[in-house]
Amino acid sequence: MKRIAEGIYALEACGFVNAYLLEGANDLTLVDAGPAKTADALVEELADNGFRLKDVQRAIVTHAHADHCGALSLLLAKHRFKVYAHPKDIPALTGKTAAKGFRGLKGFCLGFYHEQFLPWEPLEVALPVETGQPVRGLPQWQMIHMPGHTDGSLGLFHPGKQILICGDALSNRCNSLHLPESSYLTDPEAARRTLGELAKIDCDILCCGHGPLLRGGAFRFIGKLL
Ligand SMILES: [Zn+2]
Ligand SMILES: [Zn+2]
Repeated sequence: MKRIAEGIYALEACGFVNAYLLEGANDLTLVDAGPAKTADALVEELADNGFRLKDVQRAIVTHAHADHCGALSLLLAKHRFKVYAHPKDIPALTGKTAAKGFRGLKGFCLGFYHEQFLPWEPLEVALPVETGQPVRGLPQWQMIHMPGHTDGSLGLFHPGKQILICGDALSNRCNSLHLPESSYLTDPEAARRTLGELAKIDCDILCCGHGPLLRGGAFRFIGKLL
């Protein structure tokens, strides 16, 4: 577990995916939870750092892809907490529709990889977030709709600490910040618009769904992608 700022941690148990832990005054919030196969490792990581799964009161899902939300049903079987997501990704999260976001041959291959190697159980229920409104129990974080990678991709911004958690709206893999390539975008036009919106955010630290943190004037790196 890496400390990003006071009460904000990056979880490292989920392999190539980043999940985050937000420590409140009385409870904990997960932002994503990684794939199903690392669910036990995530619980262990919490325990190794003095946190308990039973103190988790809510999870925010950045988007309904197996590598980010696959562990949730297994964690919920151990301990109940609320799961929030953008309304447009809730049907995929609850198994009402198939997950979207992959296009073309490359996208087909990635979708196949997810199905074969990252199987997961859909959630019974997920609560919709309202863009611009804080989630109950998480007053310092703004929920930001970031369509493009999926229609209901969601980010979290903490204005006081200037920290942006952006899921797969941007990736920082292979030592460069970039939009996911077009095969991995449900809506490339929306992704470009989202990028424009993100560049307006005064963000110092950027936490992507994949790849290392970007610290120190992260908004400048986002601006360069425009
Ligand atoms: Zn994704
Ligand atoms: Zn991902």
